Amino acid sequence: MSAAAALLLLGLLPAAQANAAATTLALQPAPPPPPGARARALGQPTYLYINFDGAVLRTGCGNDAHRNCSTLADLFAGYVGPYTGDVTQRLGILQAVTKDLAEFGVRVVTRRPPPDTDYAMVLYGDLGPQTFAGIAPYVDCGDLWPSDTSFASPYDSSNLGSTVILQEAAHTWGLEHVDAPFDNLHPFKTASVQDFTDECHPIVANTDLETIGGACNQIHELFCDPGYQNSYRELLHLFGPSVPDLVAPTLEILSPEDGAAFVLPATFNLQAEIDDDLYPQIYTVTLTDHGQLLAERSDAVVDFQLKDPPPGDYDMVVRIADKSGNIAEDRVRFTVHPEGTQLPDPPEEDPQGCQLAAPSRRPAELAFVLLLLLRPRRRP
Ligand SMILES: [Zn+2]
Repeated sequence: MSAAAALLLLGLLPAAQANAAATTLALQPAPPPPPGARARALGQPTYLYINFDGAVLRTGCGNDAHRNCSTLADLFAGYVGPYTGDVTQRLGILQAVTKDLAEFGVRVVTRRPPPDTDYAMVLYGDLGPQTFAGIAPYVDCGDLWPSDTSFASPYDSSNLGSTVILQEAAHTWGLEHVDAPFDNLHPFKTASVQDFTDECHPIVANTDLETIGGACNQIHELFCDPGYQNSYRELLHLFGPSVPDLVAPTLEILSPEDGAAFVLPATFNLQAEIDDDLYPQIYTVTLTDHGQLLAERSDAVVDFQLKDPPPGDYDMVVRIADKSGNIAEDRVRFTVHPEGTQLPDPPEEDPQGCQLAAPSRRPAELAFVLLLLLRPRRRP
C-alpha cells in the first residue's frame, strides 16, 4: 500500500467502504473480564510488545497476547506473516513508538516478555488484503484486560507505522478516536507529527469525525468534560510515569577469539553479542586499544571491521552504554604479525577429544570435557 493511500486508512475506512464487521469491532467496548480475573493495578508500568515475527492466531481464548489469541483471527485467516523490513526499519519504528511513550510507564520491546508479565501485543506484519491500516478487537476501558492482541499493517515508514501501532495499542488500553489531527488517536493519519497530547479532544465515531458520547466515559471524565478524551492524562493514570532502566546490558565479544594471531594481509571483524531486556536500542559503542580510543559510534550492534591493522599486540575493550547510561564491556587480545610470518602449527587436538562418545564415560564427565573443548579461551 502506498503512503498516500494509507493516509485515509489509519483507523478504519468510512463505514460505507470498510468491512462493516471490522468497523463495529473496533469501536465496541471490551466485555467485562470474568469474576476473579486478576486486575491491573492503576499506575503500574506495563509493556508494549511489537511483534515483527508474525503468529498463528488462536481462537476461543479471547484476545490474550500471551497465547496469540484473537477474536479477529478469521479476518486474517488465522495467520499474520512476519514483517519483511530490515533491522534499520524495525529499529526506526521501535524508536518512534518509544519516543511517544517516553513519559509513561510503558516499556516498548520487540521480544516477547516473560509469561508472567502483562503486555499489549501489536502484530506488525502481513495481514493479507485489508481495507484498514490497523485494527483492535475493542476499546478496553481502563485496560481491564491487561494483555490484549491488536494488529498493524507493515508500513516501512516509521512515522506511519508507529502511529498505527500506538493507536491500536491505545484502543486496547481504553482510548477512543478523537477529532485531533495532532493526536495519535485521530482516526486517520495526518500530515502532522502525532503524539499523545495533553488536551481534551472530542470523541468521534469514525473517519467522518462524527462526534459520539464515547464508551469509556468513567475514565475519560476523570480528566475531561463528557464526550472528550485526554490521551496523555489517561496513559499517565493507567501506567504511571516512565520507569528508569536499571538493567545493564551484557556484552560478549564473539570474534576474534582471545589470543588469536593474524598474519598480514588480514581483514577481520570484531563482533560482539549484546543482550538486554530492552534490546534492541541504540547504544553508544566505544572501541579502545590499550586504553586509547579508536572509534565511537551510536549503533544497535557491535561490528567493527579491521582491515590490515599495523603489526603488533592488541588489547581491545569494547564498551557499550544504553540510553540510561548502564554500561557493559568486554575485552579481547590478539596479535597481528607482519606479512610472511610463519605461525607455529596449532597444537594437536587432544586425541581423547575424538572419544567423547565412548560409552565408558559418564554423562557428567562428558559434559565437562565438552565444555573444556568448546569454551573460548579468555583472559584469566
Ligand atoms: Zn483506531
